[in-house]
Formats: sequence, structure tokens, C-alpha cells
Amino acid sequence: MKFNEGASLNTGQISDQRGSSGGGGGGLGGGGLGGIPIGKAGGGIGLVVAIVLIAIQLFGGKFGGGSDTGSASGGSSLLQQAAATGDNVDASALASECRTGADANAKDDCRVVGFVNSIQDYWANQFKSTGKTYPEATTVFYSQAVSTGCGQGSSGMGPFYCPADNQVYIDLSFWQDLKTQFGTNGGVFAEGYVLAHEYGHHIQALLGTSDRVGSDSGPTSGSVRLELQADCYAGVWAKNATSTPGADGQILISDITDQDISDALDTASKIGDDYIQTHLGSGRSDPSQYTHGTSAQREKWFRQGFSTGDPAQCDTFGAKDLG
Ligand SMILES: [Zn+2]
Repeated sequence: MKFNEGASLNTGQISDQRGSSGGGGGGLGGGGLGGIPIGKAGGGIGLVVAIVLIAIQLFGGKFGGGSDTGSASGGSSLLQQAAATGDNVDASALASECRTGADANAKDDCRVVGFVNSIQDYWANQFKSTGKTYPEATTVFYSQAVSTGCGQGSSGMGPFYCPADNQVYIDLSFWQDLKTQFGTNGGVFAEGYVLAHEYGHHIQALLGTSDRVGSDSGPTSGSVRLELQADCYAGVWAKNATSTPGADGQILISDITDQDISDALDTASKIGDDYIQTHLGSGRSDPSQYTHGTSAQREKWFRQGFSTGDPAQCDTFGAKDLG
């Protein structure tokens, strides 16, 4: 994939908190992008399983339904704003570093800015076409731990969207984790898929879809339907990215290749519930614990979005057969 070298980047959509401490670092379990937090620091399978148990305990407190994170303190933090919200520690550095598509092609963190911009360009245009206004969601870059409106977040959770403060949170070391811990093939477009999935949860929050879902699990649960829809929305963005103009009138992403799409599908397959349970969890797949869908389903719904380019074709809630 390539960014259009002359197109502008908007670092105003990013809150760079990598230089600040996110707080106590106690960490909070919750379903990450792939349904379980990732064991960091070489803890191996044992650590992963331990964190999964904590995650399951906290799942009862998950509010809003289907976000990729649990809430702290039994879900009582709906109105608790992140202490660090808007605390742009290093905003000027990022703004001067990431100005154009050429910067996004050249630098890892600018590339993430580019993806966030492109994803929000698409949804802003899409909302506008239906007479609605799209409220942007900030993506927070952090290191290791972060205070959020949903409680304390930590990098072990993977990227997540917090519906209480409408922000996406990511420790950029996750891109490395995808390769080393989940065994993905990598590829930069995998990053676009992951970010577009998280923004899919923002769309669901805006449309009220998330409110229809509790904290259930299982192969046809609301949680799974919500996650598969977010994958489908990611595919919709991927389809439209190369034809969506940004605020400066320029199309930010000029080229997406078949290899890019296959990198996205590879990543989707490595964060399916069955794959994670088998390879990173107990060693066997337990459908009653599914919260994000199987590998095959995640690929299927990304493809569904990518082949149609139409968010209306992402009705995982109406689908009798999820794949
Ligand atoms: Zn998700």
C-alpha cells in the first residue's frame, strides 16, 4: 500500500501520550482485539491463561456491550473521564514529524496517523451521504499503561475502543506482538485492518448498535456479532480507502494491493477465538467462550465488507449464518 505523498496528515486526531505514565499499571483484563489480552514480558502461556481468568472475572462488568475492553470497578465507570484525556504530551513533536503522506510512507507512527485519518475520512463521508455528521474519535498512543474512561488500560490488552470516552487506545508495540505472539505474517496493512476494526466499534457506538449487546459469549452471541460487524466495517473502509477524499480534497491512500488484503485476512485469522484458544490458550477450542468469532468467520466478514464496500451489507445481527 502507499500513501499519496502530497496529501496532508492530521495529527489532531491523535493524542500522543507515549511520554507520560498512564498511572498505576495495575492493568485490567478484558477482551482485546482477539478476545484475550496478550501475555507480555515473556510470561508465556501461563501468564496468558492467568490473564484470561482475570478477564473472565471482569467480563461481568463489561459495559456498553462489545467493546474490546472491560471496564474497571464492575462497570461503574461509565461517566468517569480519563484523567489523561486531551493531555497531548508530545503533540507538537508528532505534528512536526507527520505532515504528509510521504511521512506516512516513511515513518511507522506517521503511518498510523495516516490510517486513522483515512478511516475517519471514509466514515465522515459515509455519514454525510446519509445526512448525518460523523463525530471524530481520537486515537491515543500510549506506552504500557493508560487511564481511560473505561478504567485502566494496558498494552497487554491489545488495542481497544472505549465507548465511555469515545477514544481508541493503542500501544504501538502491538504491531510487533501480532507477529511474535500471534504469529501473523505482518505487513503494514494489517495495521490498517486493526485500526479500522476499532473504529468500527466507534461507528457501532454512534449508531447505538453496541447498546443492543450484553456481555454474553458463544458462537452466535451478540458479542460475536458485534465483533464480526466491526471486521466487516474494516473491510468496507479498505474497499473505499483509495477513493475517499480527505479534508484537503486529496485521497490519502493511493494504492492497496492484493498482498495488503491478504495481510489483513491473515491477521483476522490469527485473532479468531478458535485460533487463540488453540494456540495461545488452553489448547482446545471452546465455542461457549467465543466473543469475537472464529478465524474463518473473521475472514469471511472482512471479505464481505471488502467485496461490497457497503456498511449496510454488514448486518451480522440479521444474519442467520455467520459463516
Ligand atoms: Zn473488537
